[in-house]
Amino acid sequence: MAKRMNKTRCLVNSCIVSSPIGNLYVRVCKQGLHFLSQSDETVGDNFQPDKSQEVRIICSEDGKSAQEQIAYTVMWLHTYFHEIQALPNLALPSMCPTVGEGTFRGKVWNKLAEYVGPGCTVSYGELAKVSGHPGAAQAVGTAMATNPFQIIVPCHRVIRTDGTMGQYARGTRNEVKLWLLEHEGITGHKISHIKC
Ligand SMILES: [Zn+2]
Repeated sequence: MAKRMNKTRCLVNSCIVSSPIGNLYVRVCKQGLHFLSQSDETVGDNFQPDKSQEVRIICSEDGKSAQEQIAYTVMWLHTYFHEIQALPNLALPSMCPTVGEGTFRGKVWNKLAEYVGPGCTVSYGELAKVSGHPGAAQAVGTAMATNPFQIIVPCHRVIRTDGTMGQYARGTRNEVKLWLLEHEGITGHKISHIKC
């Protein structure tokens, strides 16, 4: 009998994946990601990036239901950190549609993931506009602060209209934002506003 996943009751597996920006916590169901983020304990003061760190699973729950999603996410993250030039050829890891479904935040996350690729930036205001709510720059800021899919929904590519970086993780991890932007080739004291 074909199994059907009840959208409201996903069977979620968790794992921890090493990366150049530290360990990433991943939660995933068969439909896709529920969560991907650095630990809450990672803040600017203790951020110690290591560009040579491999991306691999270092700890995983026994559950096997979302193995394929986890494997794809690890492969995608490896490409992001170590072969970024190949990233545009890869589809984004699936995000479970139940996360943020029917909300403004969810819409903004999807638009950002879809339209703003590596090495590109967008302003809060522009992202509000492409999300169909011009003038909602502040709400976009909130959507970024609550983004559950770090890197995959690239909130680090959302910067201020004047070209300054803006906050990351409500200002607690601005160093991480800068590292990610530099990793993508966006450098300088003032980030130039590149549209793609
Ligand atoms: Zn799910």
